[in-house]
Amino acid sequence: MELIDGNKIAAEIIAELKAEVAALPGRKPCLALVRVGEDPASVSYVTKKQKSSAEIGIESRLIFPPVTISQEELFALVDQLNADPGVDGILVQSPLPKHLNEVAVFRRISAEKDVDGFHTMNLGKLAQEDDTGFVACTPAGIMELLRRSGVPLSGKHVVVLGRSLIVGKPAALLALQRHPWANATVTVCHSQTVNLPALTRQADVLIAAIGRAEFVTADMVKPGAVVIDVGVNRVPDATKKSGYRLTGDVHFPTVAPLCSRITPVPGGVGPMTVAMLMKNTVKARRQNPVKG
Ligand code: NAP
Repeated sequence: MELIDGNKIAAEIIAELKAEVAALPGRKPCLALVRVGEDPASVSYVTKKQKSSAEIGIESRLIFPPVTISQEELFALVDQLNADPGVDGILVQSPLPKHLNEVAVFRRISAEKDVDGFHTMNLGKLAQEDDTGFVACTPAGIMELLRRSGVPLSGKHVVVLGRSLIVGKPAALLALQRHPWANATVTVCHSQTVNLPALTRQADVLIAAIGRAEFVTADMVKPGAVVIDVGVNRVPDATKKSGYRLTGDVHFPTVAPLCSRITPVPGGVGPMTVAMLMKNTVKARRQNPVKG
């Protein structure tokens, strides 16, 4: 069994982007990071994104409206960022407080600045295999992990557990693309799937993105499979200072010995999500007609 080291691969991508940004003529890329309220996980995610931006030479604009912001006020903020020619990418950190309609906010962001890849236009471009669009960062990161680890997908059976718009669906579409590094046969499973283990056991590459701690057990995995664990779950753990430990959707201790390769949690898919956000921001800057 070989571990797929997301930290190492993400660091390589960050170094490549740093060189690319240093060589860019004109202004540096600019990413607006909008975080509503003080949710601790969101604070941590936005801080990571801000740090990676600084490392690469991407300017980040931090906008932290209070948790009481209304839908209309948040729309107005997004509109202002859409209209600002110096802003290349806009990220509104998810999850938003319950009184706000998250999908409506994602749709409000101009498709050209939607570096999270959640806009209808960008999901449509992904389905049409139009490379000018932005692909959601986590699925894009999964594909990059596989590519850079030398795992070809062509002709393989990829089973995706989960059908969310943020991870499962775009991951399935990417694996299905007519690219030499994709061309997989794809099965997508969800909460209504019957006899799930029979399907997951057929996977040459299993992508688990359901948000259920240690759900995938050894009996669900074909020996020699490649397993990508997207899940980030907090499990109570009295031995930890925080009172919890992070774990994936895969029961790592029993599944890892069976696999040819597997991603750990943390240190697998997570760092790739940030790296791909940075990559999308540099792409947005390149595609932005305002260069000066
Ligand atoms: P989500 O929106 O809650 O979607 C979960 C999907 O899993 C749904 O399609 C659901 O089916 C399916 N599912 C739930 N329970 C199931 C079960 N028992 N059997 C089969 N399928 C089941 O979650 P998400 O946003 O895709 O995130 C999934 C996980 O990835 C979470 O742990 C999240 O924290 C993590 N994540 C990590 C990163 C990263 O950067 N590492 C980024 C994003 C998400 P239905 O559609 O039928 O409800």
